[in-house]
Amino acid sequence: MHEMSIISHALASVEKQAEKHKLQKIIQITLEIGKMRAAVPALLIHAFDELSPGTIYEGAKLVIEEKDVDLECRICGRHIESEDSLLAGCPACGSHKIKLLTGNELKIKNIIGE
Ligand SMILES: [Zn+2]
Repeated sequence: MHEMSIISHALASVEKQAEKHKLQKIIQITLEIGKMRAAVPALLIHAFDELSPGTIYEGAKLVIEEKDVDLECRICGRHIESEDSLLAGCPACGSHKIKLLTGNELKIKNIIGE
């Protein structure tokens, strides 16, 4: 399952953070994820529930913050909300010089622990 590997990757970085800040217990984790990652939030939470028992983040609340896809054409400046344009080109001017602003995130935004 795609979501399972995303969560196990994310939790590895949570553990590093917890160690660094000497946290004994994690209460809440906020995961920022771009829609280009094609992850289903309910499956992410399910994966988290499967992986968390017996760890320092057992019982923690996992908050998923989805980021919309936002691309910008470097030529005409148009904003595009579909990742398809990365391959297809700008719908306004046809340029392939397209910059990805948001939509590909996969990071732990915040951890609350004690
Ligand atoms: Zn354009």
